Amino acid sequence: MEKRIAIVRGDYIGPEIVGEAIKVLRSIEAKYHHTFIYDEVLAGGAAIDATGECLPQVSIVALKQADAVLLGAVGGPKYDSQPANNRPEKALLRIRSLLGLFANLRPAILFPQLADASPLKPEIVQKGIDFVVVRELTGGIYFGKHETIGDLAVDEMAYSVEEIQRIAKVAFETAQVRHHKVTCVDKANVLDTSKLWRKVVKDLAKEYPDVELNFMYVDNAAMQLCKDPSQFDVILTENMFGDILSDEASMLTGTIGTIGSASLGSTSVGMYEPIHGSAPDIAGKDMANPLGTILSVAMMMRYSFHLEKEAQDIEKAVNTILDEGYRTADMMSEGMKQVGCQEMGDLVVKQI
Ligand code: ATP
Ligand code: MG
Repeated sequence: MEKRIAIVRGDYIGPEIVGEAIKVLRSIEAKYHHTFIYDEVLAGGAAIDATGECLPQVSIVALKQADAVLLGAVGGPKYDSQPANNRPEKALLRIRSLLGLFANLRPAILFPQLADASPLKPEIVQKGIDFVVVRELTGGIYFGKHETIGDLAVDEMAYSVEEIQRIAKVAFETAQVRHHKVTCVDKANVLDTSKLWRKVVKDLAKEYPDVELNFMYVDNAAMQLCKDPSQFDVILTENMFGDILSDEASMLTGTIGTIGSASLGSTSVGMYEPIHGSAPDIAGKDMANPLGTILSVAMMMRYSFHLEKEAQDIEKAVNTILDEGYRTADMMSEGMKQVGCQEMGDLVVKQI
């Protein structure tokens, strides 16, 4: 299989973690006889340094040709003085809209080897944490009209049937390759948008008889995530609720360094990145945990290239390395073997 991957190395630890993820991509190429073509694309702070713009035209051209985008983290204190429309994070928003990425998938998986890092009680953790938050990314209150009139401020929240259908479809299809359950999270006792979500999602569910559907109010969902996260498989929700719940979800695992994410649209093109930021405090020290980025590569194999075996191969390799006791500093605990960013990448490659 031949695929074109746009590589946005990003800022601070970005280039370090992406470097390790590329090693993993190359090992998958060699093992399974695929050809991946890597296009280096400047976006974010690195693009500002080189061109003055957070997403220059040449980058846009390259991104449009890509089958998938791999991204480190962008931004950091060096760019704080940039005007609002040229901040590194703006580049991400533009890439999302350029590629029509309206769904954000964030898995919350607790590796049993890292169970001590979870803030939850052992008896809850023991039941396992393995679910995905599917968050709508381009609609809702963040994109509605914002207005301040004297002493009054208004933020508008709107969703169309079509916007709900397309994100719900992603959730049902994700459930089909997982454990066949979707929990739609909303506030249907108060919000009209949520009532519409319920209606549309219920209708669409008829096309997925192999997927079990239930509904939950967001306040209850926030509570249930702490009380019994094992009940969830796929959580489907709108933009703001998803923003909040996906941060809560990643905290449950206690290790932001090991979580990847995918942003998807109607085509198979997707953008893959770790959930953490550019971590300026540890940049250039070969200390960053590359596993979140490496596991994002596994998601790229699964969701953009439909290479399930390759995805599982990467995930299994990570699992084995953790079993063997290797940890970067952020995951370190007594009796484990501490390694740097590059050595962690090498270990995963060797395993593959
Ligand atoms: P952003 O606003 O970009 O999300 P943030 O302020 O939330 O950034 P992060 O950059 O995610 O912060 O970092 C938060 C803390 O976690 C920092 O102390 C950082 O060193 C640590 N951290 C983040 N990512 C990693 C990683 N891959 N490996 C090790 N430590 C990390
Ligand atoms: Mg953050």
